[in-house]
Amino acid sequence: MGSMKDALAKIGIKEVAKPIAPNERSKIAKKKVTEDVVHQEQRNFCEACDQVRPDVELYKHRNPTTEAEWICVRCADQLQIPDTFRKTAQSDTSIKKMFRREYGATLHPSEIKNQPTERPRGPVNGNR
Ligand SMILES: [Zn+2]
Repeated sequence: MGSMKDALAKIGIKEVAKPIAPNERSKIAKKKVTEDVVHQEQRNFCEACDQVRPDVELYKHRNPTTEAEWICVRCADQLQIPDTFRKTAQSDTSIKKMFRREYGATLHPSEIKNQPTERPRGPVNGNR
């Protein structure tokens, strides 16, 4: 009677699959580190209107209508994001001292804390 059960148990033990997950995990982690390191280049792509613009800057705003953070002047004005949320003065327009907001006051360059280590949020750019 018991011999059939024993046989099944033996087969079951032999069929245990090897775990493969750990390797996959470490690959993903490595990629993320690489993305974090790349941050020095100038950004001119507006995440709000999906266009290349000479006046894109980083805004750490709390506007719930957009997830964009790198935004051109025109979009920032349309989204009514005050210039006080601006964190960079890295655009061509800023460098030429021609950066000017229509919505509210424009910050003086010395009032902006330039944060070259700021990076875009991973999920936004990751899977395009
Ligand atoms: Zn825009």
